[in-house]
Amino acid sequence: MQPSGNLHIGNYLGALKNWVRIQPDYECIFCIVDLHAVTLYQNPAELRAKIEEIAALYLAAGVDPEQSAIMVQSAVPAHAELAWMLTCVTPVGWLERMTQYKAKAAAQESVGDGLLQYPVLMAADILLYQAAIVPVGEDQAQHLELTRDIAQRFNSLYGETFVVPGTSLPSVGARVMGLDDPTVKMSKSATGAYHAVALLDPPERVRKTIMRATTDSLPAVDYDNLGAGVENLLNIFQAFGGWSSEQMRAHFEGMRYGELKKQVAEMVISCLEPFQRRYREITSEPGYLAGVLRQGAERVAPIANSTVELVKQRMGLYTGA
Ligand code: AMP
Repeated sequence: MQPSGNLHIGNYLGALKNWVRIQPDYECIFCIVDLHAVTLYQNPAELRAKIEEIAALYLAAGVDPEQSAIMVQSAVPAHAELAWMLTCVTPVGWLERMTQYKAKAAAQESVGDGLLQYPVLMAADILLYQAAIVPVGEDQAQHLELTRDIAQRFNSLYGETFVVPGTSLPSVGARVMGLDDPTVKMSKSATGAYHAVALLDPPERVRKTIMRATTDSLPAVDYDNLGAGVENLLNIFQAFGGWSSEQMRAHFEGMRYGELKKQVAEMVISCLEPFQRRYREITSEPGYLAGVLRQGAERVAPIANSTVELVKQRMGLYTGA
């Protein structure tokens, strides 16, 4: 995740929750992608503070630093090094077609090259560790497709080098929509005051945002005629509560929107409460997070460096040997 803006329930349900679920079954590496964050200007002091905040949020969600590596992208220079090598096998046309690039570029007066190269750096993050699967929200599925294309192109040009990774999307919560506008995905950079529930929002704030959520002109939940706003609220409840679709329908069919919102708000608050408690505990221990991040980088750097060595050999670059 990028250390920019405030992590919200979309980040949690789309990615973080799935990370914790798969953690016992895989050797996992969870990266804080600060090099991606600076594709748009970041205030340096705020960026520095955000990096540890994100690490604390990973831990609060249940990522276990004994089991999984948690590291910062810029602490392992191999990320940037491999990104350059992959840039050289990536056609510009592939990058210009990316929907996230088009949306972000349209919002800028002058488009930085980093914004275009963003998915190549993401491909490097993944291919560097020969990852089998990448657990992301739906908005990143296109970038994963591109990562596979880049890996296959490299493999066909230079011989088998990279594992071609799969995508893991959660069954519910892969795309949480904006609460003020359910036609757009919930996003850290959106400016609307009641657009998102941030993971560190206090209960009163969560209640207020959800009670103001945009619904539609019907009075109550009608499963045969669900508007985007109501569907989004139901999805949020289901993803947090872990209810089955049958349970959801039996409970919510015919419920008035005011009551639906109240129940969604209470579900979200009850799930965020222990999460926020753990966050406060983690951040109250001086030096703890810096240690976790240092250890994470030390653990993954040998894997990353050996991939870069292999790629250099394959491409005929100077290895000194
Ligand atoms: P980012 O906000 O771009 O740093 O994304 C971090 C992770 O959260 C990625 O895996 C995204 O796919 C996921 N994510 C971001 N926004 C949403 C959303 N609205 N719904 C579900 N997943 C999301």
